[in-house]
Amino acid sequence: MLKHKKESDNMDIAHIGNPVLSQKASKVTDVTSADIQTLIDKMFVTMDVEKGIGLAAPQVNVSKRVVVIKTKDQELVLINPQITYQSEEKILFTEGCLSVPGKELPIIRHQKVTVDYLDRNNIKRSLEAKGLLAVVCQHEIDHINGILMTDRYKQQTNIRETLNIT
Ligand SMILES: [Zn+2]
Repeated sequence: MLKHKKESDNMDIAHIGNPVLSQKASKVTDVTSADIQTLIDKMFVTMDVEKGIGLAAPQVNVSKRVVVIKTKDQELVLINPQITYQSEEKILFTEGCLSVPGKELPIIRHQKVTVDYLDRNNIKRSLEAKGLLAVVCQHEIDHINGILMTDRYKQQTNIRETLNIT
C-alpha cells in the first residue's frame, strides 16, 4: 500500500503551559515499531505545515525522546539523542518555538556540539553540528528534557546583563 502524506496527518502543537512540555520524555526502545515510524512521519508533516525547522515529540503531546529536524541541507531523525561534546565557544541566536507562538528570544548556546543518536532504522550515529544546526539540536534536546527556550532565557538573565545583551 502506498503511503500518502496528507496535511490531515499533522498533529496538534502543545503550547507553553501544557505540562507535557515540562516533563522529561521517556527513552524509545522500539524504534522500528509502527507507532514510532508513524509518529516520525506525522512529525515531519506537522513541521512542514507549521513551517518549523525542528520539532520534538513532546511538542505534539508525545512524551518520547524523538526529534525531527529539516534544514535546507538535510532531514534528520534523532532518537534518544545525547550531547557528547559541546564547545566552550558560544553563539547568540534569536530563537523561535512552535510551542511559544509569537515570541522570539536571544538565547546563548554552544557553537558546536556532537550528538549521538539512533536514526529511524535503529542505527547508531553521531552528528557533528555547528552554527544553526547546533542551535536547533540544543533547542530540541532541551524539549525532550522538559526545558523551553523561555526557561533558558530566564536562566541566562545574569549572563546577558554581564555581556550587555538586551
Ligand atoms: Zn521549541
